[in-house]
Amino acid sequence: MPYEVTATRKRPQDFEALIGQEFVVSTLENAIKEGKIAHAYLFSGPRGVGKTSSARLLAKALNCENGPTAHPCGKCESCVNITKGSSVDVIEIDGASNNGVDAVRAIKEEVAFPPQSSRYKIYIIDEVHMLSISAFNALLKTIEEPPEYVIFIFATTEIQKVPQTIRSRCQQFHFQLISQENIVKCLKSAAEDLSIEADENALYWIAKEAAGSMRDSYTLFDQVAAFSEGHITLEKIREKLGLASADAISTILRYCYSGNSKEAVEALDDLFMKGSNENQIVKEFASFIRTMLLYKEGIRRKELLGFDESDLPKDLISLYSKDMLETMLKAFLDLYRDMRYSISPRFELELLISRLSFIRFLSSPASISEKLSTIEKAIESGKFEIERKNVSIPLSIGMTIPQKKAEDITLAADNTQPYSAPQTTVQPAEQKKKQLGDLKDLSRALRAEGLSSEARYIDSGVRSFTFENNVLTLLMTTKLATDMISRSKGRIERILSSLLGEQTVLNVSTYREEEKKYSAEVEYLRSFFRNTEPYEIKEETIRHESKPVRDDETAGHYREQDEGDEGGDFEDNG
Ligand SMILES: [Zn+2]
Repeated sequence: MPYEVTATRKRPQDFEALIGQEFVVSTLENAIKEGKIAHAYLFSGPRGVGKTSSARLLAKALNCENGPTAHPCGKCESCVNITKGSSVDVIEIDGASNNGVDAVRAIKEEVAFPPQSSRYKIYIIDEVHMLSISAFNALLKTIEEPPEYVIFIFATTEIQKVPQTIRSRCQQFHFQLISQENIVKCLKSAAEDLSIEADENALYWIAKEAAGSMRDSYTLFDQVAAFSEGHITLEKIREKLGLASADAISTILRYCYSGNSKEAVEALDDLFMKGSNENQIVKEFASFIRTMLLYKEGIRRKELLGFDESDLPKDLISLYSKDMLETMLKAFLDLYRDMRYSISPRFELELLISRLSFIRFLSSPASISEKLSTIEKAIESGKFEIERKNVSIPLSIGMTIPQKKAEDITLAADNTQPYSAPQTTVQPAEQKKKQLGDLKDLSRALRAEGLSSEARYIDSGVRSFTFENNVLTLLMTTKLATDMISRSKGRIERILSSLLGEQTVLNVSTYREEEKKYSAEVEYLRSFFRNTEPYEIKEETIRHESKPVRDDETAGHYREQDEGDEGGDFEDNG
């Protein structure tokens, strides 16, 4: 016997064998029993779920020499010919390739002749939605008043593309996706027919891949059976089809959670080396994360999860919040859709994996937006805490004092944290400090010299200041304030010098510049929302490897920062 693909071999030959379409089957059977035979049927539903098979079964039922009967004999000439596809009275037309008005005209001419050897002349038009509008119009007349012996059976995957005028003249049947249990049942029987052993989880995998389509399931089954050497297992499938194993995906997700983007991207590279391609990897990730999400929702049904409960990494699932899983699933689904327009799907995938290493900060748009507004409020109110543990900031911004001198000053101060915030390193001379006071004397002197707007900015635009070695460093709250003061720098320096009785240098900078160096996380979030210039860390200002997620931090980090009770800014100096 010649080799036959499983989908053909297992094509249902009677209504009982039609799996998963119980409603359609019972309605058709009853109609035939009661002799209520319509002149046009419209079968709609997803691909590979039995529409064409049902059309042929219906043709058999109507034309069986022992019929019309809900149980065609399968042995008479008509049944045999329909099974072989050689019945002269059952005409199958592919709507996709015969979609013009000419094809329909040919049908119209043909229907004038009665069937040659059967009860009915049956036209099965597959993919009927592909017909052109004029073809539909030409068809309409024939469906409205067909000769008694003519029956049309239309099949379509896209019912919404079939004009309402056609639909309303047909008896409609909607076919459903086939459940994984039913598909697995059929695959088991197919494996038995071929004397092949098949692990259940391997068959579930096939069913899941085929997404409810029986035909796709059989096709994939044939492919898998071909390399499985008599025993189909999930391991063989993964190996031969280059699929990422659940373990490999878990490993990458673990790296992502702990913020190890380097390791995560390297583990991804391993998958490529083992022969997986971008599409498969993205699909496997999406499917695995979906399973994690479903499990998190409390779902335990194996056919929904697609995995044995015992195979799931419960600790990993408990690490990720529902928000995170949803964000990740969406990211992979979006990526799958976008990949075909990408110059390099692999780059896109690496980028996504790398981004997932920030997952704890990407948890959900709502929570990020909340965090951002907290940060913004902190910036506005001027309460901003310096991340001391990991970030070391220079003595002041734009300072002219050479580093060596700065070190000298450090020695004089509380130097438990050298090179940290200025107030711990700088103690202005008592006298000068008194003279500067809270800068009120300076602003008064400026007013007296006619610099009243500059004086205003000194009164209200200074966030903090330091005075050391005859350098007054002002940290302004806004760029505008900085510009206003800088514009009159020379005059202010002269006034300042005469006020203090010594040559004094003025340095001005804006607080925002400072802020950038405080927290890599904050900068990441800002650049993520693209509301600031790109994130940039200068080596001399930050002396640690800038890794946005650190083990010693948690998501609560921002809340702690907002409370800002620790110093680290310049305020205590004033
Ligand atoms: Zn028959």
